[in-house]
Amino acid sequence: MADAQYDPDNIFAKILRGEIPCHRAYEDADTLAFMDVMPQGEGHTLVIPKAPSRGLLDADPAALASLMASVQTVARAVKAAFEADGLTVFQFNEPAGGQTVFHLHIHVIPRFEGVPLKRHEGGMADNAVLAEHAARIRAALEAGR
Ligand code: 5GP
Repeated sequence: MADAQYDPDNIFAKILRGEIPCHRAYEDADTLAFMDVMPQGEGHTLVIPKAPSRGLLDADPAALASLMASVQTVARAVKAAFEADGLTVFQFNEPAGGQTVFHLHIHVIPRFEGVPLKRHEGGMADNAVLAEHAARIRAALEAGR
């Protein structure tokens, strides 16, 4: 079977073009981070490259390098912002791998001792809560945390 192609109308491409809103936590020339609308834990953040790729396998290595640098920046800020005990960072490829949005993205989730992750694609979070969480991450970044 031929590999699936990148669809420029996927939801994260629309977020990048500003066609649908997101709660932005971090942005630089190559990457954007925003709150997941169906968080698996408080502070669940997604980090994406601006360059189009479906997943890990078709990404330009240079885009992966800048993406992972942003993942580290965001992960540090998220851990500080939520005073987390740890972090879970993951990435899915293709439906068989659990992927549901076909623009490369890395999940960054604060973790707390004894608190399990919620179900993937569980309930929608409240907009005001997501806005406050994004603001907390931006504040941590501005404070250099
Ligand atoms: P995947 O399974 O592809 O790794 O995860 C896609 C993630 O995107 C899921 O955790 C889901 O909650 C999140 N998501 C789906 N649609 C939207 C959306 O429109 N906005 C935001 N911010 N997140 C979304």
